[in-house]
This record gives sequence, structure tokens and C-alpha cells, in this order.
Amino acid sequence: MENKYVCSVDIGGTKIATAIMEYPADGSVPHPVFEAEVPTEAQEGGEAVFQRIEASIKAALEANPDVEVLGVGIGAAGVVDPKTGAIAYANEIMPGWSGVQLGPRLREDLGLPVAVVGDVQAHALGEAHWGVGKGKFSVMCLGIGTGIGGAYVENGRVMQGFHGAAGHMGHIECSAAAGIPCACGRSGHLESVASGTSIGRMYDERFGRVDPSRPSVGRDVNDLCRAGDAKATEVIHDAGFALGASLG
Ligand SMILES: [Zn+2]
Repeated sequence: MENKYVCSVDIGGTKIATAIMEYPADGSVPHPVFEAEVPTEAQEGGEAVFQRIEASIKAALEANPDVEVLGVGIGAAGVVDPKTGAIAYANEIMPGWSGVQLGPRLREDLGLPVAVVGDVQAHALGEAHWGVGKGKFSVMCLGIGTGIGGAYVENGRVMQGFHGAAGHMGHIECSAAAGIPCACGRSGHLESVASGTSIGRMYDERFGRVDPSRPSVGRDVNDLCRAGDAKATEVIHDAGFALGASLG
């Protein structure tokens, strides 16, 4: 067996990172043999972002003419259509990104196999194959930040679900969130009580803003909690309890 090479792309709201990854024949952790990064400039819209992604991939392939790249693997912001690799849904952080035919257009233009999954799904696959989930049959991975993303890997494969939203833990029902509007437009979802954004909002509702000039964010409450503040500790406890109950 020989080492294998794949072009990997991470598409986020801030940057597009491209790499040529080497997968050693002995199964050890893959590593980049080439890396590059460009700003996403998401405000320019979905088509401009697509052009930047395609140019980044072509540049990576051209910079490594001696490497036989088997295909392109992409972890993308937004919800990915599991059947085509198109972007099924994206929020306002990436305007015009929703509906971009990412997988289909890249396959046609590059003439290579192209696999597209969500960014947290890509993270989960990495953990399941080479990280904390190595050797485990099932792995649940959560991305908790401004919002809450999630992915579920079983027997080495990420479960995407018919609409590509399997494992999106942030938008499952949570009793502690009953009646609270969610960023997705519905209400009562875990993200409304356990994301960084929600932790800031809950603190402000109960105790007033940390900095009177702006709404609090998760980091503000976290900093207070680390300093031993009882009010911040209460809010983080409640967020953690809701997260644990929903996970259970
Ligand atoms: Zn929601």
C-alpha cells in the first residue's frame, strides 16, 4: 500500500483553508504536505465565495504537480445536502451561500470526486477516525460556540439524514428553552439556552449587562465564572444542565 493524497478544504465565515493531506499507508494520523489560506469575504455573496474556493483548490493542485490527488474533501459552513453536496441552508453569516451547488459544480469543473459535509461533521469524522473517538463504534461531536452544531458518526460514517440535519443538536427540543425564540426561526431549542450567545443573553436578563454599552456574550460570563462570580456560575450551570439533559 502507498500513501494517499486528498485535497482538503475548510470553508468558514472568516477564511477558506486548503491543504493537500497525506494519508499514510500504515493508518497513522494524516498530515498536510501543503497548506494555504484566503479570507472568505462572505459579504461578497455565495458566487464570489464559490469562485474563491475553486481557485484555491486549483492553486493547491497546481502547486503539487508530483502528487496524485484522489479527490477533494470539503467541510463547509451551513447545512449540506447529503445527496448532492450542495449547500441546503446557511444563516446570515454567509449571505447568498444557501443554494450554492458546491459539490456538483466542483465535480464538473475539476473532474475529480468531491465529497462535501458540514464543518462539524468533518470535525466529528476526524475525531472518530484519529482522535478521541478512535476505535469506538459511535461518536457524538458537539461544536459549542456562537451557536451549537453537532454530528453523529457510527461505524466510521457520519450520519447525515435525509435533509442533512442529523446530529444538529442545537435544534432539538429542550424543556428549559420552552417558549424562547431560536435563531432558526422556531422556538424551544437547546441552542436558545446553551450556546455562548444564549449564555450572554440569559445573564443580561437575570442580572443586567456586564458591560452596559453592549449585550453580553458567552465569553463575558465565562470570564466572570472563572473569577468565582456566583451569578455567572449560576447561568453557566443552567446552560450546562440543559445541555446534559438534552444529550441524555
Ligand atoms: Zn432552532
